[in-house]
Amino acid sequence: MAVVVRFAPSPTGVLHIGSVRTALFNWLYARHNGGKFLLRIEDTDKLRSTEENAQSILRILKWLQLDWDGEPVIQSSCVERHKEVAHNLVKEGRAYFCNCSPEELALKKEAAIKDGKSYKYDGKCRENTTNYIEGKSVIRLRSDLTGATTLNDLVQGGIITENSQLDDLVLLRSDGTPTYMLSVVVDDHDMDITHVIRGDDHLTNTFRQIQIYQACGWNIPNFGHIPLIYGPDGAKLSKRHGAASAQDYIDLGYLSEAIFNYLLRLGWSHGDEEIIGRKDAVEWFDICDVGQSPARFDMAKLQNLNAHYMKARDNDSILECMKPFLKRELSDIQAQRIIRGMDSLKARAKTLVDLAESSLIYVTEPDGFDEGCVKYLMPENIDLLKDMIEIIQNSESIQQDSLLESAKSLANKNGVKLVEVAQALRSALCGRLVSPSVFEIIEILGKDETIHRIRRFISMDM
Ligand code: GLU
Repeated sequence: MAVVVRFAPSPTGVLHIGSVRTALFNWLYARHNGGKFLLRIEDTDKLRSTEENAQSILRILKWLQLDWDGEPVIQSSCVERHKEVAHNLVKEGRAYFCNCSPEELALKKEAAIKDGKSYKYDGKCRENTTNYIEGKSVIRLRSDLTGATTLNDLVQGGIITENSQLDDLVLLRSDGTPTYMLSVVVDDHDMDITHVIRGDDHLTNTFRQIQIYQACGWNIPNFGHIPLIYGPDGAKLSKRHGAASAQDYIDLGYLSEAIFNYLLRLGWSHGDEEIIGRKDAVEWFDICDVGQSPARFDMAKLQNLNAHYMKARDNDSILECMKPFLKRELSDIQAQRIIRGMDSLKARAKTLVDLAESSLIYVTEPDGFDEGCVKYLMPENIDLLKDMIEIIQNSESIQQDSLLESAKSLANKNGVKLVEVAQALRSALCGRLVSPSVFEIIEILGKDETIHRIRRFISMDM
């Protein structure tokens, strides 16, 4: 059987990182099996769905290179079909028109709560398959209330639910609009979905949806419900934990391959492998290997993966990824300097935000100085800096190894440690005490810019 899966996000808000993982697992399952990965935008909640959210979902899937097959299905364009299915079910006696008013149902619900019982529709209209009142009737499924429904979930294993726990769910509302339960089943059927892989928050819906499949006489797809993502404190991952939407992680400066690898490893593993690229992921992934326990988001792990993938990218491409974070245009000289210094900058950065921040040393003179730099404006340090200016001025070419040697002799001559000379230079050139090797920075900045920055620092009044 050819595998056909789908990702079915609702464009009612920004795309949660957990939904991205659902998309990833579906995509991997399709690609691993040589099947299809379809996309369906579930935009039937017209009040909360926006085109902007839908576009951003497509953009994020593209960013992660989770390419879908064919055109996305827009659920709102299938509404007539959903209605038709509901009315056909009434004709076949598998559903009925319910004319109970909301007030009547509310009273019954209240009474059930008072008696300490859970409320279920009492089936009053179960035999009504003819009296349809426009604007008032809803269509309810005539559920099978006896026996049990068994789900052999690909992730959660076998789960049995007594049908007596269910009630006659609404398929079509009184305003004629289909409910989520109906739409999702009809669309999955019409799209020939073979495997429904989604978050385990949909698990209880699945038992209701199976009843709709049965009433329609359709094949029931396989289901795999993946655990949701939780924060380090055990609560469902939300903005409160710092970042929850896919866009948050893009804005924090993570590369798509790091997010891909991180989400893949969250709840799924292949031996001890931590670094897993797209090709191996496709080869190794199976939905049955996804764990049942909730996945906890570990920011430090994501950062380490990101650092790894930043190092793995070539310097030109990482510069392109970093540019949006610099928030300024680069001249050719600035870009070339960054590229030359990139290996050392990358070695210290965990995110593109860090990298952009530390690259600024090759873009502008410091626009401020850290507190620790002030010390290097003491007269003895100023003398060291002046000597360094002279050394640099008199060198034919400035090359980091020979600069290091000269700085060592200067330190010796003055009875100070090399680090003192280096930190004085770092203060002058970078405005901070942490950076890649200062001699590498001098080599990259060149004579004129280096001397300009040292002179500027010396003349500061701090
Ligand atoms: N649109 C639903 C959601 O975003 C997903 C439905 C499904 O996967 O069946 O939660």
